[in-house]
Amino acid sequence: MIPVEEARDRILSRIRALPKEKVGLDEALGRYLAEDIVSDRDIPLWNNSAMDGYAVRSEDTRVQSSKFKVIYDLPAGAIPKGPVGSGEAVRIMTGAPIPPGADAVVMREDTLEAKNKVTILKVIKKGDNIRKKGEDIKKGDVILQRGEHIGPAQIGVLASLQRFSIFCFQRPVVAIISTGDELSEIDEPILPGKIASSNSYTLISLVKAAGGTPLYLGIAKDTKKDLMEIFSAAKRSDLILSSGGVSVGDYDIVKEVMKSESNRMEFWQVEMKPGKPLAFGEIHGIPALGLPGNPVSSMVSFYEFARPAILKMQGAKNLLLPTVTARLKTPLQKKPDRCHYVRGILKREASELAVSPTGAQGSGILSSMSQANCLIVLPKGKTVVKKGETVECKITHASWG
Ligand code: AMP
Ligand code: MG
Repeated sequence: MIPVEEARDRILSRIRALPKEKVGLDEALGRYLAEDIVSDRDIPLWNNSAMDGYAVRSEDTRVQSSKFKVIYDLPAGAIPKGPVGSGEAVRIMTGAPIPPGADAVVMREDTLEAKNKVTILKVIKKGDNIRKKGEDIKKGDVILQRGEHIGPAQIGVLASLQRFSIFCFQRPVVAIISTGDELSEIDEPILPGKIASSNSYTLISLVKAAGGTPLYLGIAKDTKKDLMEIFSAAKRSDLILSSGGVSVGDYDIVKEVMKSESNRMEFWQVEMKPGKPLAFGEIHGIPALGLPGNPVSSMVSFYEFARPAILKMQGAKNLLLPTVTARLKTPLQKKPDRCHYVRGILKREASELAVSPTGAQGSGILSSMSQANCLIVLPKGKTVVKKGETVECKITHASWG
């Protein structure tokens, strides 16, 4: 048995970022940048009005209730028809360029409007209500960095620079194999002694959520022949995930396959609960994680080991689940030998976060994972965590009230 951090470090030391590829902006959401984005322009491109109102020379408003001649209208998208002289105003709309001569905009609400005339009720300062050229982004700024995750705001910034294509890291193809004689596909009738292979679908979804492309290869029987055959279909992948067959049972032969022919098993068993029987190695030269079969163990091991690997392949900077600290609402006890991951429900309580365990923590109780929005991490060595102590929570599902 090795500690969780050591297991993760050893896995990640075998993982490299994939090559980059050109991606259209409309396909870039959720990917990771493979280039620094340097702005080729100022944003805004020119000084423009932040308000609907009147563009004037600010010095002309030194006297309250000063009167101006309105020389023309300037809607957004139009260009100024001429300079603004002393005692003159241009009726300007939000986003329209500031006409030459003007150095401030008076909000419409601070004026009395008449035909071709306006009375400005307020004294204003130079620069008021003007959005300055380059105040958002300056030409030459590195506005997004290599390795950055592309969310809606990053897409917006790229669109404002008219970057319709960018370089992103390739998405890894992740082969998924479920193992076990007891497993049925979800569209097959459940015969006596069989169960539906839920792991196939949780793993497909976990891979997608982590930005990978799942390659589902189906269910392998608990025979060396069947496993070898199905693993050979994984040759096109960047990472292999199997579930089941890594415990100490008579039919747990994933480890055996990992040790045979030119494959390699690098380690087996991690100091964690659930998730102890994780196996890591190489199959056909491809990094392979033998995840435990129990549905919760499989998910927890995915979050701790497979997800960071999938993210590293995409060039991501942050590989771990986001964590928060929260006050524990129910005391917990454990043995000191391993790190425990307890399914928890995080809630905001007054000004802080509180977390409650979901109840029964058996590693087969998948429904509790669907109620949970985090994993409470109780470190190795710790035995008692009292009610009211703060605990570290890894966020698995970003939804809480
Ligand atoms: P194993 O590690 O292969 O002994 O699997 C442990 C337990 O996990 C099995 O008894 C099944 O109940 C469950 N299990 C294994 N694979 C799957 C799967 N693909 N979907 C749902 N449950 C599974
Ligand atoms: Mg099995």
